[in-house]
Amino acid sequence: MFDLKGKVAIITGSRRGIGKGIAERLAYAGANVVISDISQEDCDALAKEISEKLHVSTLGVKCDVSKKEEVNNLMQKTIKKFSKIDILVNNAGIFPFVELEKMTEADWDKVLNINLKSVFLCSQAAAKVMKPGSKIVSISSIASFVGFSGLTHYCASKGGINSMTRAMALELAPKKINVNAVAPGAIDTPGAASTEEAKNQTIAVIPWKRMGQPSDIANAVHYLASDEADYVTGHILVVDGGWTVQ
Ligand code: NAP
Repeated sequence: MFDLKGKVAIITGSRRGIGKGIAERLAYAGANVVISDISQEDCDALAKEISEKLHVSTLGVKCDVSKKEEVNNLMQKTIKKFSKIDILVNNAGIFPFVELEKMTEADWDKVLNINLKSVFLCSQAAAKVMKPGSKIVSISSIASFVGFSGLTHYCASKGGINSMTRAMALELAPKKINVNAVAPGAIDTPGAASTEEAKNQTIAVIPWKRMGQPSDIANAVHYLASDEADYVTGHILVVDGGWTVQ
């Protein structure tokens, strides 16, 4: 079940956090993985670590997902090494807290470009070369369903991912490319690092009474990236320990 042997997967923003967890999981299932992030050195280091540990073929490619030329370079390098792209995971994202009244146009543009425009750029470039059976999985957030103070730009970007997921699912259905998203709750990652006190306050509102781990998200992505999800498309899979069903 969920065997990914021989598949080629690109995971953006995968040098650490949720992206790293996804890359390790897909590699564990047999996929050859492309580690992509904004530091070439970090991408190379993780690519080497995964290939040595899990005996799959890997590639590290620096890519700022908000820049079209870097996204095209990522796809070209992947095709040059592996001749195909089976799985694209749009994971890279940032979540800086800024109060609405202090938010600058530059703050807004940065979050929307990295979190949302990137999904358009990467999905469009990958879809052009993907064959039937390929999968696009984007990392959304529960912030696409509920409001978070200080994250107006972020909530908008993640709501946009959900809408794009449904639109792309319809448009790519004739090509038999599945397009889905995973919406995490509070996940313990370097990017979400906070004080013990803040973490305990978060845990208090989660019915499961723990923070999520990158592996919780990787489990969901693994399923959506597999052949077993062939008839699932346009779906937003919430993985939040019950936070948003209260
Ligand atoms: P993280 O620990 O900060 O990891 C994200 C990675 O993406 C970092 O290595 C980061 O590099 C990289 N990145 C930032 N800007 C980039 C760009 N322009 N191009 C390529 N890579 C870039 O964050 P995370 O918590 O794992 O989050 C991963 C995804 O899950 C994001 O889309 C986030 O919105 C989503 N998510 C997270 C949570 C959570 O609680 N953690 C909840 C819901 C959704 P730098 O470190 O150099 O910036």
